[in-house]
Amino acid sequence: MARNTEAVCRKCRREGFKLTLKGSRCDTEKCAFNRRSNAPGMHGARKGKLTDYGIHLREKQKVKNYYGVLEKQFRKYFGMAERMKGNTGKVLMGLLERRLDNIVYRLGFGSSRSQSRQWVSHGHIQVNGRRVDIPSYLVRTGDVITIRNRPKSTKAIKTVIEEGSREVPEFLYRDNADIPKGVVMRLPTAEDVTLPVDSALIVELCSK
Ligand code: SF4
Repeated sequence: MARNTEAVCRKCRREGFKLTLKGSRCDTEKCAFNRRSNAPGMHGARKGKLTDYGIHLREKQKVKNYYGVLEKQFRKYFGMAERMKGNTGKVLMGLLERRLDNIVYRLGFGSSRSQSRQWVSHGHIQVNGRRVDIPSYLVRTGDVITIRNRPKSTKAIKTVIEEGSREVPEFLYRDNADIPKGVVMRLPTAEDVTLPVDSALIVELCSK
């Protein structure tokens, strides 16, 4: 499976925005963005003016890095959003928010999206009682997300929940039972996305 192996803190520095890709470390003084917020690389400190294309591109890259999707996957989501009813940019953001790895993260089961993706791909997560190991699985309203009943998975995820301080978004419900579970109360919309992004710029870029 192809994946982006670039150091994650460089992504924050390039976007000029804390994408919080490293979980609890992002809130500490160890955060690379807090220490050096200029773009990475030899000429990173030189702040040139972005071209029109550059502004559009950065918006798209920001979203891709935030959700951890590659270009090919991103284009698939864009194609799906174009075929669906509604504002393409907003539909696109809603689709990305529905990814199972993101839902696991938003429920607080993972300290970062990459850890949540690992919980999913390593088979620790069930949807409606069935193991789902596809991070890009799109959840639906009413889906019940549970942890596989294995002592190791449950203990590890419960520790993350206890240590985390993130609030569960309104479109989800989390039950902190012995085996924590989450329910998708409704489909997320662009308004539920915490990343400040101008999705219209992405649509303009991808429609060319
Ligand atoms: Fe970004 Fe987190 Fe790294 Fe800070 S620690 S630069 S917020 S990924």
